[in-house]
Amino acid sequence: MVATISFWICLLVSSPASGFTGISLRSPFRRAAVSSSAISMVADDAKVCLVTGASRGLGRSIALELGKSGCKVVVNYAASEGPALQVVEEIKKAGGDAIAIKANCGDPSEINAMFDKAVEAFGTVDVLVNNAGITKDGLVARMKPEQWQSVIDINLSGVFYCSQSFFKVASKKRTGRIINISSVVGQFGNPGQANYAAAKGGVLGLTMSNAKEFATRGITVNAICPGFIESDMTGELSPEYLAKMAEVIPLKRLGKPEEVSGMCRFLALDPAADYITGHFFNVDGGIAMGC
Ligand code: NAP
Repeated sequence: MVATISFWICLLVSSPASGFTGISLRSPFRRAAVSSSAISMVADDAKVCLVTGASRGLGRSIALELGKSGCKVVVNYAASEGPALQVVEEIKKAGGDAIAIKANCGDPSEINAMFDKAVEAFGTVDVLVNNAGITKDGLVARMKPEQWQSVIDINLSGVFYCSQSFFKVASKKRTGRIINISSVVGQFGNPGQANYAAAKGGVLGLTMSNAKEFATRGITVNAICPGFIESDMTGELSPEYLAKMAEVIPLKRLGKPEEVSGMCRFLALDPAADYITGHFFNVDGGIAMGC
């Protein structure tokens, strides 16, 4: 049953054939890689939150949630400059402050440069949300080295290098929070997603290892495992597909990005999360329970 459910997640969420991944809302115009406003009403001591892959989907929702909470948000993107700048504007309208920084989270040198720019703009980074992720699905027998490597590079190595850069900033202050966006697929696998499952499962191991290593510096590290979440892309699926998917989820519906970003806000900002580290929080409508 679990395999069946996860297979549907694979088909519906990430199949390139479904057109469900790789959608790029590229801006027709180009600007500098760092963009910000001249005026900000945000408190000087507002938390600085860096969200990777924040131009679209869950990352966008997380960035908006943190911005709405009065934070200074670094909106990272790889290609979708226009949408990233829209997120920046929405955050400012909602009372936060934000800048957009272009960086490929599959490249350690670009990650380092992104943290340097974030510190230059906001003075520090208090919260890191490792959200950027891609899928390049295929059966193991036919998976090309590039399919394997690019998913590992962005979904797993990117989390490692961002965490390493964040640690350099946060360890000096002896406080900080990291939230890694994994997946239920990292918990129970998925046919056609060996690369994605390995990366997302690896993120869970990295979460626990870093939680233990960083605890002495007052930095907590937790993960969120979303199930099947509504997005721009799910909007393109047929109502029949969506109905079939909802049928196998105990709560009988897909999740909303706000439900993931609500959990993220709690782990990132709530004082009650001070004593939580090394844990995984499923936001999945109960799907990971199986039958
Ligand atoms: P999405 O809509 O495809 O958005 C992906 C985001 O990641 C975009 O902002 C994209 O930016 C960014 N990104 C991609 N490659 C990047 C790179 N090399 N460097 C920096 N940013 C990069 O995906 P999503 O559905 O919101 O998923 C977000 C995270 O949640 C992923 O880690 C995914 O695995 C996880 N997740 C999602 C679901 C779900 O149902 N949606 C379920 C479980 C887990 P550009 O547009 O600029 O490329």
